[in-house]
Amino acid sequence: MKRLSSSFFQSLCRYPSNQMLFPCACLQGCARGQLDMEGALTARDRVGIQDFVLLDAHTSETAFLDNLKKRFSENLIYTYIGTLLVSVNPYKELDIYSKKQMDIYMGVNFFELPPHIFALADNAYHTMLAEANNHFILISGESGAGKTEASKKILQYYAVSCPSTTLLDNVRDRMLLSNPVLEAFGNSKTLKNDNSSRFGKYMDIQFDIQGDAVGGHILGYLLEKSRVVHQNHGERNFHIFYQLVKGGEEDLLHQLGLESNCQHYSYLVQGECANVASINDKNDWKTVRNALSVIDFDERDIQDLLGVIASVLHLGNVQFEPDSKGYATLNNSAELLWVSTVSLLLMCAFFFINIQVLSPFTVDHAIYARDALAKAIYGRTFTWLVNKINDSMENKDSSRKTVIGLLDIYGFEVFYVNSFEQFCINYCNEKLQQLFIQLTLKSEQEEYEAENIGWEPVQFFNNKIICDLVEEKHRGIISVLDEECLRPGEATDLTFLERLEEKLDSHPHFVTHKLADKKTRKTLERGNFRLLHYAGEVTYCVVGFLSKNNDLLYRNIKDVMRQSKNTIVRECFASKESDGRRRPETVASQFKSSLLGLTDILMSKEPWYVRCLKSNESQQPGQFDDVLVRHQVKYLGLMEHLRVRRAGFAYRCRYDVFLQRYKPLCPATWPYWRGVAAEGVEVLVQHLGYLPDEYKMGRTKIFIRHPRTLFATEDAFEV
Ligand code: ATP
Ligand code: MG
Repeated sequence: MKRLSSSFFQSLCRYPSNQMLFPCACLQGCARGQLDMEGALTARDRVGIQDFVLLDAHTSETAFLDNLKKRFSENLIYTYIGTLLVSVNPYKELDIYSKKQMDIYMGVNFFELPPHIFALADNAYHTMLAEANNHFILISGESGAGKTEASKKILQYYAVSCPSTTLLDNVRDRMLLSNPVLEAFGNSKTLKNDNSSRFGKYMDIQFDIQGDAVGGHILGYLLEKSRVVHQNHGERNFHIFYQLVKGGEEDLLHQLGLESNCQHYSYLVQGECANVASINDKNDWKTVRNALSVIDFDERDIQDLLGVIASVLHLGNVQFEPDSKGYATLNNSAELLWVSTVSLLLMCAFFFINIQVLSPFTVDHAIYARDALAKAIYGRTFTWLVNKINDSMENKDSSRKTVIGLLDIYGFEVFYVNSFEQFCINYCNEKLQQLFIQLTLKSEQEEYEAENIGWEPVQFFNNKIICDLVEEKHRGIISVLDEECLRPGEATDLTFLERLEEKLDSHPHFVTHKLADKKTRKTLERGNFRLLHYAGEVTYCVVGFLSKNNDLLYRNIKDVMRQSKNTIVRECFASKESDGRRRPETVASQFKSSLLGLTDILMSKEPWYVRCLKSNESQQPGQFDDVLVRHQVKYLGLMEHLRVRRAGFAYRCRYDVFLQRYKPLCPATWPYWRGVAAEGVEVLVQHLGYLPDEYKMGRTKIFIRHPRTLFATEDAFEV
């Protein structure tokens, strides 16, 4: 009988699909890897253990942290829990991502080498090829933990390491270069992270049957467009604004009517940090400008795109002052008209002049209308950009492809003041945590129960209760918010809060000043509500929830925008939208539906996980903040994950399949076993000498604890 290939072994040991639940293969691979790569056995003391499954059976949280810290101090930022990769942000460049390193990891068994993001990428890739099915890599962690960097490393690995033809190099370049462009338009400096993703990104990398990366497709999720008009102190607008103003060539700036000084633009100065030490806007401008050309943007597109950016900046500088009746008038229209080459802006000027005639505005209203317009233009342009990038990465060949999806979304965040944006971002993180729980802790344990395998359940916090709190029909926060948005003129942010208090008064994860006990009340102001998220408490200020959720544009603004000379703006406002009779879906509801869609996409694929941990709050190289890391280890459920992995079974197989494969190894089952398959398997494994602890008989399957048992069985064919 033919011996099984090592790739078959790999796939055997993965169950369900790629969930490797066996300590033993790790043991073999790890021990070897550890000795080869890290010197002598004593290296264990110095550099820790590279797979947590190998730590002592009753690993405490402290031992877990010690191991992470030990490794971190040796610049070993990656550690496994089985096939899950834990990554700790080093906040410094490490020489571990070169082409040479990629080559080392290419096609090598997962546990043969020290843990690495390339190993995970490679394992996902080879499994995808072997099984011809779709996979995804879920990268999670809080803001600044290293998700975006991890996703870039994975993309680079595929772009550089996979087989290549010149024809396809083009597609790869575009995939790689889509990153700096999307980061320029969708990332910004926040208090948590100098390059914080302000949108969610899911990217499918498509491979043909030879394993060539042949195309890509991106789905973008809810851009935080309020940032265009408002930034908190210490934060910036989207990078592209600073890149253009600081790096743009003189001619270009002149043409766009821009000054080369950020201080000139009110949308760029609110955070008082236009210059950031870790960011080189001038250089980044060159990268982005070059990338735009490679990704199929012609000169006209680029002109229009930059025209939008310039227009938003000019729009921000439009000021209003009250006339004698208290109505808003433009106080710097002269300047507006001076920039007449920016046709979009001209349209805006007309718009403001028009609305003043048709329905006079107060200054506050006028400012609101201006900001709403700026946000709408930027937000829609971002969507246009994603579509354009998708066009350029599209593979039109209809032959069969498999994909690896990369999910990199804004991480959980808590600021001093948290608003609607943080509410959406943190809700999204709850959903991803829920997905993780469903795919790992829950389904794994449910199968043991269903199969009647004696199993000591591992307790874990299931955050479904918080997802429900946010998204449940009628009672959930989004529902209540939407209902309030349906009562224009009557509802306010505060009535929204009151409604929440009525509906959620006894919810264990919802607190307000009114509902809190005496002690907690002191920490809560009246206009706030607090959610006890899986990752910690966040207090949200309700101001702005209604208007941000409604996200309405003044009625005639779309008509005006449709006449713009700027092609992008015209396209962005041309789509068939609500005709005014049907209410457009609110922002939160749209986001909720898109997250449900995302969950469906992911559930249909095989999962891999990267759990990113933030090493310290001040973004300092090499600093390991024990308290901060411990907190993340806790809420990410890493200990529970480890317990399930360790106690679990590496391999399981239906009785009939198992019997069919191994029946030649036992005279009683060869060539036929005429009875019930389960009984045949029992006879077979008894004959093979399986010890009672090595396997369990379920209702329909045999469960084998360690792969070494299976390896030995395979070896029996040779004898
Ligand atoms: P957000 O949720 O805010 O988008 P994030 O998890 O995507 O956060 P990143 O932007 O990936 O965080 O990382 C933040 C910063 O940390 C990076 O800009 C980089 O300076 C540093 N960093 C992250 N990962 C690594 C790494 N593997 N090596 C070196 N530096 C890293
Ligand atoms: Mg990010």
